[in-house]
Amino acid sequence: MTSALTGTRAELPGSWPAALAPDCLEVIDLPTPYLVTDLDTVAGRLSAFTGALPGFQTFYAMKCNPSAEILMTVRDQNASFEVASLGELHQLERLGVTPADVLYSNPVKPPAHIAAAYAAGLWRFSFDSPNELRKLAEHAPGSAVYLRLHVDDSESSFPLSRKFGAELHEGRDLLVLARRLGLRPYGITFHVGSQCANADAWRQAIDASGKIMSSLLDEGIRLEMLDIGGGFPARYATGVPSIEEIGAVVTAAVDDVLPYRPGLLAAEPGRHLVAEPAVMAAGVIGREVRGGENWLFVDVSAYHGMMETIQLPTGWDFPVRSTADGPADAPRLPFTVTGPSCDSSDTMFYGLSLPATIDVGDTLYIGSAGAYTLSYASAFNGFPPPTPLFVGNPPWQL
Ligand SMILES: *Cc1c(COP(=O)(O)O)cnc(C)c1O
Repeated sequence: MTSALTGTRAELPGSWPAALAPDCLEVIDLPTPYLVTDLDTVAGRLSAFTGALPGFQTFYAMKCNPSAEILMTVRDQNASFEVASLGELHQLERLGVTPADVLYSNPVKPPAHIAAAYAAGLWRFSFDSPNELRKLAEHAPGSAVYLRLHVDDSESSFPLSRKFGAELHEGRDLLVLARRLGLRPYGITFHVGSQCANADAWRQAIDASGKIMSSLLDEGIRLEMLDIGGGFPARYATGVPSIEEIGAVVTAAVDDVLPYRPGLLAAEPGRHLVAEPAVMAAGVIGREVRGGENWLFVDVSAYHGMMETIQLPTGWDFPVRSTADGPADAPRLPFTVTGPSCDSSDTMFYGLSLPATIDVGDTLYIGSAGAYTLSYASAFNGFPPPTPLFVGNPPWQL
């Protein structure tokens, strides 16, 4: 843990924690690549999130970044966790988290994971089909089940709904079937897609959930939970709605369109909490001209954590700074930025504007890099994944 970094730099993107300003990072005596996370910023974002969604309980979606330091920071603020596998649950147990407080929101689970999670005391599972309900009835008899609903995720950067989610018209029958199978019809959840830029997506999904809640009342089923999932955006190079704006829309929808207020209102933020607090440092290992274009070779790539740069046809607008940055009017050139491996598909950025002088020995600082990076990173081609590094002053000790 390094907590002594000091210094600031004037023109940082809005999403960039001051503690991770490039001139602060230059003193880090560690080989690249590394991912440095400011835990104070994580804690601050979590309090802003809970402040913007009063009455909601937070379950951090740990797949986004499962570093123990982050899990401890979240746990310390009385938030809980959302898991997708037994491996994630075991990791939480090692940190002293009680399984009974955890949500298992992966709608399609290995039977052995269901049985072991249930034996450990986890009692709430999501589902989206009769097949999954039968699995749960067999391996977690009597457990509480919540329906994953298919909602409009077209406003997000990474839609999920083709993979998961029951249709609105199936919802009522599925929760009735749950009861018939001896399970506890517990709630409804959805995911509006990752990096969702439109708060109205949550309002529409809450509206759909309310319709199912109403239709179950004449079956004598009153649901106990509404879980609005994840998808809360982080800021990259361009603006996104603030958590306060989204919170206002969600809070109003809960008050206006639900037939009653369930006992538990849950949210499962991932990216929103951990993307902006971290910077990826990538060392420049080569500069070449290929087909008339400037190419920069660095020691981190899509395979070493920057997977999201290749997941979208349009690329991904990470804010980037470097040790070669000079005055605002210093000359810049467009670069293709690629990784160190012998595979060409690890290229991260096209046409990225960088200082004309950048060269071997400089470091690229890629901002808002804390989400879906470390957990994806491999040692492909013998190049090591980024070393996790943490700054800040969390109140806990590992
Ligand atoms: C991944 C995931 C989340 C978090 O998604 P973000 O877009 O990172 O907020 C929340 N809930 C579930 C069920 C998930 O699978």
